[in-house]
Amino acid sequence: MELADVHTVGVVGAGTMGSGIAHVAAVAGYRVRLRDVDDALVAKGLDDIDESLARRVDAGDLDAAAADAARDRIEGTTALADLADADLVVEAVTEDRSVKQSVFSDLAATCGPDAVLATNTSTLSITAIASVIDRPERVVGLHFMNPAPVMPGVEVVVGERTSAATADLAHAFADDLGKETWEADDRPGFVVNRVLMPWINEGIRAYEEGVAEKGDVDRGLRLGTNVPMGPLELADHIGLDVVLDASETLHEELGDRYRPAYLLKRKVAAGDLGKKTGAGFYEYE
Ligand code: NAD
Repeated sequence: MELADVHTVGVVGAGTMGSGIAHVAAVAGYRVRLRDVDDALVAKGLDDIDESLARRVDAGDLDAAAADAARDRIEGTTALADLADADLVVEAVTEDRSVKQSVFSDLAATCGPDAVLATNTSTLSITAIASVIDRPERVVGLHFMNPAPVMPGVEVVVGERTSAATADLAHAFADDLGKETWEADDRPGFVVNRVLMPWINEGIRAYEEGVAEKGDVDRGLRLGTNVPMGPLELADHIGLDVVLDASETLHEELGDRYRPAYLLKRKVAAGDLGKKTGAGFYEYE
């Protein structure tokens, strides 16, 4: 399959990342089928896309007619069968290996044999996700960053069985969405989260252990290292559950230096998951 053969893109999971990926694919001219498990979640994903398109129009990055045309190219669904004619699928469901493997089994049974099946996993093994289907050479990591419509980079992750043609297509597709890519081998956390997750956890521990107030941990890192968000702000933005899932995978695979901060686990247990629930390390409207 060449990029010119890709017309319809399936996105599985209409949460933070799935809705953002659907947005960018539709703006680039692809027909998009966005799937989640129930109507309310699909509707929420589509509402989020309406808002994110409107933000791009307000920012002057997109004209209103192009935003309307992009929105018309996106169809929400709960039926996996609606992804049967997708040429490329990006899976963006919960960061849990068995959930993702079950989605990939369903996709292999639904999509055509040539379709490229990509996962947006933050840390899980591409090889393990691909191992449950009969065409692991068509599976690749396409790791979009959050928010997908804004962040300029996409990490392409190559599993043990990923073919060179599939990896090339993943780069070409991301490039066509206006993203710059880099490639990482299939090891826990790839490049970005291998470095980012311990940074976030260390920021949480600095606050937890009383090194500085939370605002000063964030300000210190912002003003001292020229990053746009400090570790606690970024954790709230990503979702504390997503940070914990990723940290636990890294801890399991790479050992003690990746142990999640206790306060992160306690916040997740309390249901304070960051911006998406209105409270995390900070409060949101
Ligand atoms: P999220 O919780 O916002 O959304 C996940 C969605 O998947 C939910 O709407 C859920 O209902 C849906 N889902 C679960 N099982 C499903 C299934 N079988 N079929 C269809 N939909 C299903 O999570 P998110 O933040 O969008 O993360 C999704 C993936 O992207 C994860 O693998 C995560 O690690 C990765 N990721 C997240 C970020 C981030 O900053 N949040 C950044 C990069 C990558």
